[in-house]
Parts: sequence; C-alpha cells; structure tokens
Amino acid sequence: MLTDVLGRPLRDLRISVTDRCNFRCTYCMPRVIFGADYPFLPREALLTFEEITRLASLFAVLGVRKIRLTGGEPLLRTNLDGLIELLSKIPGIDDIALTTNGSLLSRQVAHRLKRAGLHRVTISLDSLDDQVFQAMNDVSFPVHKVLDAVQAAAAAGLTPVKINMVVKRGVNDESIISMARHFRGTGHIVRFIEFMDVGTANGWRRDEVVRADEIVAAIDREWPLTQIPPEHPGEVATRYRYTDNQGEIGIISAVTHAFCGSCNRARLSSEGKLFTCLFGSKGWDLRQRLRDGASDDELLQVLTSIWSKRQDRYSELRSQASKDRKKVEMFHIGG
Ligand code: SAM
Ligand code: SF4
Ligand code: SF4
Repeated sequence: MLTDVLGRPLRDLRISVTDRCNFRCTYCMPRVIFGADYPFLPREALLTFEEITRLASLFAVLGVRKIRLTGGEPLLRTNLDGLIELLSKIPGIDDIALTTNGSLLSRQVAHRLKRAGLHRVTISLDSLDDQVFQAMNDVSFPVHKVLDAVQAAAAAGLTPVKINMVVKRGVNDESIISMARHFRGTGHIVRFIEFMDVGTANGWRRDEVVRADEIVAAIDREWPLTQIPPEHPGEVATRYRYTDNQGEIGIISAVTHAFCGSCNRARLSSEGKLFTCLFGSKGWDLRQRLRDGASDDELLQVLTSIWSKRQDRYSELRSQASKDRKKVEMFHIGG
C-alpha cells in the first residue's frame, strides 16, 4: 500500500473543476481582490473531463476510494453530470460527493447528478439570517434559495445532506444555535467549521476564529451532545450526536485541533496541479505531463513519488509556519 513519509495512505481525492464562483464570500474570495478584472483561468487551461477521469483512474490504482468535486463553484462547470458519469465507472471509486454553494442546485439538476452517479452533497450555508448570509456571500444571495437546494438534494436521494457553516466571530456566531435548531431532527448534518487561514486573500485573524470547543459548548447548553466515533479513518469532522436522538452535527477544528495525523487527502486544482495539503504553496503540474503524452506508467510513477515523499502537516505546524508564507487560495484547489 502506498503511504507517505508519516505512514498516511492516499484515499481521498478532491477535484476542483473550476476556479470561478458566482459568490464572493468574504472569507474565501473577497470582492476587493476578486473583482471584475481578476484573471481567472481561460477555458483551455482547465483539465478536460477526459483528463480528470484519466488522472482519477490512476489515483484509484494508488488507493483513492472517494472523490469530492469542488471549486470555485463546481456547478458552474457545464455538464458536470457528464464528468460524474465518467468518474462513477472507475473501478475502486465507491463514493462521489460534491461541495456546492447550492445556488444552481434545482430539483432537476439534483436528479440529473444523482442519475449520473453522485452519492452525496455538502451545501454551504453560513446563516439563516438573510442579512448576515447576504453580507457573507456578498452577492445578496437569499437564504431561502439555499434551503430549497437542501430540499432538492434530499428529494433526489443525495443523502445525508451535509451543511457547511464557516463560523466567524462577530459576523455569524449568533447564528450557531438557530442553524443547529433548524436542522435538528431533519437527518441533515450541519458541520460547523472554524474560520481557516487558507490562502492569503481573506485577511484571516486568529481572534475571528470561534473555537470548536466554544461551538460545542454553546450547542450542548441547549441540547446535550455526545461525541461519537468517526465513520471512517481520516474523517475531517469530529462527530457529536444529540443525546435526545435528534441527529448529529460535525465540527471541523482545523485551527484548534489539527487532524493532520490521519490526513489521506490529495487535491487536484482546476488546471491540473496536485496539492498534497490544503495549505500548500506548491502544486505539481500534472496537466503538462498529460498534454506531453506521458504514459499511465509514467504518471503512476510521478504520483507515487510525490505521495511517498509527502510530509505535510501544516495545521500542526501552524504557529511556526504561517508567517510570510505564500499559500494557495481555497477557491483555487477546492475546499
Ligand atoms: N463553492 C462551493 C461551496 O462554497 O460550497 C465549493 C468550494 S468552497 C471553497 C468549499 C468549502 O470551503 C465551503 O464550505 C466554504 O465555506 C469553505 N471555506 C472557504 N473558505 C474557508 C475558510 N477560510 N475557512 C473555512 N472554510 C472555508
Ligand atoms: Fe465561492 Fe464557495 Fe468560495 Fe463562497 S466558499 S466564494 S461559494 S468558492
Ligand atoms: Fe491535511 Fe494539510 Fe489539513 Fe494537515 S493541514 S489536515 S496535512 S490538508
């Protein structure tokens, strides 16, 4: 089995299918930087569906079992269901998931994605309060349309639906309890995410992070929680269930409790660069090799060599490493 320097296998591949987005979330693509003249990638720079599928098949040979499509906003990529259909035929891939802001996830689209072979979706929603949410997405996108997307995903059987809420102190921390209340008992799982220092554009400050333990304590005061074991190794969220059996929540504590020890994720950016850490500064250019005509064996050798030398554990080293380091943006390699 292929493992990295720290003994971690390669199991999970996150594929960013576009660097573009129709939202301008302040913590991800702040409008001042990602304005009308921002140089997003031209069409020909993106990996084609065939190129993505070829690489994903090789990753599967090396141990990848789960694929997550992300972005940017992945549903901006036309015919995404065509890509899902190709990926779902790869031997060894048993789970295909999608992370989306939900803005383009109608009932029809959800059914089409399900038919193509998508298993689950995660939908991002930072507050149920329109004023707060619209200020965070910065394109005045209303809450009710994201809630419609959650319903559409559930109706299509893309379950359990997970809801990602990035928590920023003084911005949407007041929405933690209402989000928990709204989704308790629905079968949908809210995942509260500590605001992370991904990239360099979002002006991250540690004092804007609401710590995982604060989030858990706030919810536990309303509805007692019990921690439950991970569903599978390398899971990013710590799971808690409501002791009154009204479902579960997840907490992603990338800032206060690093989970690098079990990190089995690789990330493929939309222009075909491989990153072995969300906080990486350097990606390996696979597109060039593909377009230069590399054989499967050559590509497998490259991937094996990259993974076997991997030592990333940025979150664990955050305190020493974050100063003056150039990091790739989240929308670029996907969350
Ligand atoms: N556009 C899609 C969406 O928003 O769901 C997919 C891409 S987005 C980069 C993936 C996830 O990363 C989202 O749930 C988003 O909230 C989260 N995210 C983005 N920037 C973040 C940050 N600085 N800290 C924590 N989570 C972040
Ligand atoms: Fe777009 Fe998702 Fe980033 Fe928001 S978090 S700007 S929806 S890519
Ligand atoms: Fe994995 Fe890097 Fe995150 Fe650690 S910091 S969990 S190595 S992606």
